[in-house]
Amino acid sequence: MAGHVVLLVEDESSLMDLMRSYYIKEGYTVLEARDGFHALDLFEKNKVDLVVLDIMLEQSDGWTVCRDIRKTSRVPILMLTARNQESDKLFGFELGADDYMTKPFSLKELMARSRALVKRAGFNQDDALVAIGRLTIDRRAHKVFIDDQDVVLTPKEYDLLLHFVNHAGIALSREQLLVHVWGYEYFGDLRTVDTHVKRLRQKLGHPGYIETVFGVGYRFEVT
Ligand code: CA
Repeated sequence: MAGHVVLLVEDESSLMDLMRSYYIKEGYTVLEARDGFHALDLFEKNKVDLVVLDIMLEQSDGWTVCRDIRKTSRVPILMLTARNQESDKLFGFELGADDYMTKPFSLKELMARSRALVKRAGFNQDDALVAIGRLTIDRRAHKVFIDDQDVVLTPKEYDLLLHFVNHAGIALSREQLLVHVWGYEYFGDLRTVDTHVKRLRQKLGHPGYIETVFGVGYRFEVT
């Protein structure tokens, strides 16, 4: 995990000392804040890979910090609490925390969970941009480009394209597409799929991507 930056937010000096030395030993660069305001300030001014956030803080609380960070960032957030309450945990997840540890916890486990969170975030970022031939899909922004030209899709067309791309090279029946892209509760007819495929082909302006598979449905071709 060398080179990753962790922001530790904790007002208890003894715990901060322990965590700091563990993260440094693991190769992290450590930023520290004792209160929420300082934490948000540091977060804004630095590129942070992981936030370890205590709920009980002076002058502010971990909930507020978590909520504020989530307004602009998907950085992994691991929350710490002294209370072992399920409602705290659920509230944390609702606000967008990724993981949760109850004090007292093992520092070894904290390191293991931190490593997993940072790794997962890295994967997500790699997966965010999908490039196939002249086509690029930015999954975070829900945007599609042909060469560098923006392709404007409706949400359904976008979902359909993403489903095709995730199943590239596989023949998909209209029924399968209807179930997976429109949902089980949708009672539309199979021509809905044909209509959307037709529009998607027009918008992509490149007939080779979505092939008709006679008697089956459609297949997305990687060329
Ligand atoms: Ca505290």
